[in-house]
Amino acid sequence: MFHVLRKKPVDKLAEALGKSKVKESLMERKLYSYDATPIPIERALPSAVVFPDCHEDVVKLVRVCYEENIPMFPRGAGSGLTGGAVPTMERGVVVSFERMKGFEVNVDNATAEVQPGVVTAQFQEYVEKLGLFYPPDPSSFKYSTLGGNIAENAGGPRCLKYGVTREYVLGLNAVVKEGQVLKTGNPVIKDVAGYDITKLLVGSEGTLGLITSATLKLIPKPKARSTALAIFRNLEDVGRAVTRIFTSGVFPSALEFMDSEAIKAVEDYKPVGLPRAEALLLIEVDGTPHSVLEDIKQIEELLRPTGVEVRTAKSKEEEEKLWSARKSLGPALGNLKTGKINEDIVIPRIYLSEAIPRFREIAKKYQLLMVIFGHIGDGNLHVNLLYDKSNREEEERAEKAVDEVFEVALRYGGSITGEHGVGLTKKKFLRWQFGDVGYELLRGIKLLFDPKNLFNPGKVIEL
Ligand SMILES: Cc1cc2nc3c(=O)[nH]c(=O)nc-3n(C[C@H](O)[C@H](O)[C@H](O)COP(=O)(O)OP(=O)(O)OC[C@H]3O[C@@H](n4cnc5c(N)ncnc54)[C@H](O)[C@@H]3O)c2cc1C
Repeated sequence: MFHVLRKKPVDKLAEALGKSKVKESLMERKLYSYDATPIPIERALPSAVVFPDCHEDVVKLVRVCYEENIPMFPRGAGSGLTGGAVPTMERGVVVSFERMKGFEVNVDNATAEVQPGVVTAQFQEYVEKLGLFYPPDPSSFKYSTLGGNIAENAGGPRCLKYGVTREYVLGLNAVVKEGQVLKTGNPVIKDVAGYDITKLLVGSEGTLGLITSATLKLIPKPKARSTALAIFRNLEDVGRAVTRIFTSGVFPSALEFMDSEAIKAVEDYKPVGLPRAEALLLIEVDGTPHSVLEDIKQIEELLRPTGVEVRTAKSKEEEEKLWSARKSLGPALGNLKTGKINEDIVIPRIYLSEAIPRFREIAKKYQLLMVIFGHIGDGNLHVNLLYDKSNREEEERAEKAVDEVFEVALRYGGSITGEHGVGLTKKKFLRWQFGDVGYELLRGIKLLFDPKNLFNPGKVIEL
C-alpha cells in the first residue's frame, strides 16, 4: 500500500517562488525569529523564511499564503523594539525584504522610488551627494530599512523640524488581501483625491499588507549645521527654555533632552566630559553657514539671562562628541542594569515639566531606577525603567510601573508611542488611547485589508 505524500503548505511557496527563496533550515528559522525587543515576548519558530526579490514574488507569495492560510510576518532589518517583526505562530513564515533593496532617485522631481529592503543610511548618503535630503532619522538608521521605517512610521531627533516618515511617503505599492495589488498616491506633493490610504499604510506595522515599493519625497539638503549644549540647574526651567526658543523665530532641527541620571549614565559608560547638571538640552540648528551662527547666538542670548549656561560646539569633533554622548545612551543604560523597558511616550510639550516629576514618583513608588531622555521639542520622551533581569520580582515591578507611565502620558493628552509602534508589547494599551469607537474602526480597517488575518496576526490590535 502506498501513502500519498501530502505537500507541506510551504512547499507550495517554494514551487511558486523557487527553492532559493524559501529557507527552512533550523538556523534560518531561529535567526529570523527575533527582533531587537529588549523584554521577553511571545515568539514562535516560523515554518520557513521567505526572501522575495521583486514585487511579483510578493504577489505570488501572498496568493499562496492566502490559499493555504499561512500567516506572514514581514521583516526589514529586525531592529524593531516592540516585537513587530517577530513570528508568533509556527505555521507562519517570515517574509524578509532584505533582497529587495533597489532605488532610483528622480533629482528633477525631488522624489525617489524605493524598495523596502533599502538600508536607511545608505539611501540618505546617496541622496545627500545629489544635494537632496531625506530627513527621517531613527537612531537605528545605519541598519534599519526603509520598509521597516515606513511600516513603523519611524522618526528621530530631526523630526521636530522635518516631521516623521509619514510626511515623506507620497505613494506606495502594497500587496493586500488574497494577493491584490494596491497602488496609492503619486509622485506629487499635492494630491487630495479621496481618503489617504498611503498615510494609513504608513505605521500599519505590517498588519494591512506587504509594502513592495514607495515613492518618497526629498527636500533640499541644508548647507550647514551647528550644535550647542544648554546646561540646567533646575528641571523646571527646561520647559520654559523650550518655549522661549520656539517663540524666538529660531526653528531647531533637533532638541534633545537628558535628565541627571542620563548624564551620569553616559559619563560612567564612556566619558565625554558632559557637565553634571539637573538636565541638558542638546540643540541643533541647520540652514546656511551664516544663519546657523546667528541662530545659536540668539539662543545663547535668550537663555543666558535665565541662568542657563549655553556652550557651542566649536568644531566638527566637538559636535560629534556631543551627539555621540546622546547616541551612547542606549548602551550606557545597559551598563547600569541587565534589564530595561524603554518606552517612547509622547506628551504635549506644555505639560512636560509637570509630567516628568510624575514619572519620577512612579519610579519611587516601585523602587526602580528610571532614566529619562529624548526628543523634548516634540514631547517624545524615552522613559527607561531599569531592572535586574534575574530578579523576577523587580521585573514585575517594572512592568507595573510602565502601565502607570502610559496612564500619565494619556492623562496629559499624549500617546503611548511616538516612535517604536505598538507591535506586541503595547497592544493592551491601544484601546486606552483610541477608546471603544476608535478601536472598533481599527478592527474594521484591518479586516477590510486582511479578511483572513494573515498579515502579521496578533500585532497592534486584537480581533
Ligand atoms: C538601537 C535602536 C535605536 C532605535 N531608535 C529608533 C528611533 O530613534 N526612532 C524610531 O522610530 N525607531 C527606533 N528604533 C526602532 C526601529 O529601529 C525602527 O522601528 C525601524 O523603523 C525598524 O526598521 P527595520 O527595518 O528594522 O524593521 P523591522 O524591525 O524588521 O520591522 C518593523 C515593522 O515593520 C514591518 N515591516 C517591515 N517591512 C515591511 C514591509 N515591506 N511591508 C510591511 N510591513 C513591513 C514588520 O512586520 C514590523 O512590524 C530603534 C531600534 C534600535 C534597536
